[in-house]
Amino acid sequence: MKCTRCGGRAEIKLRQHNAAFCRDCYVPFIQRQVERSISKQKMIEPDEHVLVAVSGGKDSLALWDILIELGYQTTGLHLGLGIGEYSDRSTDTALAFAQQRGLQLINVSLRDEGLAVDEATAFTNRPACSACGTLKRYYFDKLALDRGFPVIATGHNLDDEAARLLGNVLHWQVEYLSRQHPVLQPTHEKFVRKVKPLYRTTEYESAAYCFFRKIDYVIEECPNSVGATQLTHKHVLNQLEAASPGSKLQFVQEFIDKAQPLLRDDAGDSPGTCENCGMPSYSELCARCRLVREVTAKRERKEARAS
Ligand code: SF4
Ligand SMILES: [Zn+2]
Ligand SMILES: [Zn+2]
Repeated sequence: MKCTRCGGRAEIKLRQHNAAFCRDCYVPFIQRQVERSISKQKMIEPDEHVLVAVSGGKDSLALWDILIELGYQTTGLHLGLGIGEYSDRSTDTALAFAQQRGLQLINVSLRDEGLAVDEATAFTNRPACSACGTLKRYYFDKLALDRGFPVIATGHNLDDEAARLLGNVLHWQVEYLSRQHPVLQPTHEKFVRKVKPLYRTTEYESAAYCFFRKIDYVIEECPNSVGATQLTHKHVLNQLEAASPGSKLQFVQEFIDKAQPLLRDDAGDSPGTCENCGMPSYSELCARCRLVREVTAKRERKEARAS
């Protein structure tokens, strides 16, 4: 198998691109792909300082590396979620990546902020991913706002976006579909733009990128992801991809180009203000403050019963 670019010995084959690459050609190929996504979707202005959400997994570390290689000014943001050893390993990995390269990383522990994912799930009936999503969204917005970043980039990849799209289509979640886009413009002055530069990059491609770039990442999946419906959707999409390479990319890109603009509601209601924390909210309390209040009340009741 020969490299499509230089004719040397190829080490990786990308069926969806009908191409094969040696490692020296693969790395710039992926970087150019991401650069094209950023420019096609107008994600980031060249002079903007990007806050990169870094979990310690392959996608977010590949994304941070690519943005730096493309010349963007970046700062990493890691949230210690409080999911046992998985979170400890993720934090150590993100810190090591930043330290080895002399990069700025904002490291925030949700436990220090008052509520971690394990406590939220122990005291409520909410699924871990629901509580986790609420807390992540809140702190991404809050920390970007407090520190003056105009844009936050996350490592969502093509597999994530295709699985999410399939889930939303299966249930015709029109409201979610109207917001599924690689660029989420702020609907309030306290929100910042959110972008997904890897939305056309597969999990396999970002794992190979990390391998070729010698990036250490946390290989294990979050223990809470076991049995998640999204994994079933990914499995189905992988079968489709194997039978018809390029299906995933086509599914997502055609949705973004053709269907999403029809569903988008740019004139939708803009949020008010959370009475507790001052962040944007559609009700008296924002989702994070409601979660904190619920956990606090249940914890107090439990402690009162025990004493
Ligand atoms: S799998 Fe769920 S709990 Fe784990 S990091 Fe992802 S959203 Fe959070
Ligand atoms: Zn080559
Ligand atoms: Zn709030």
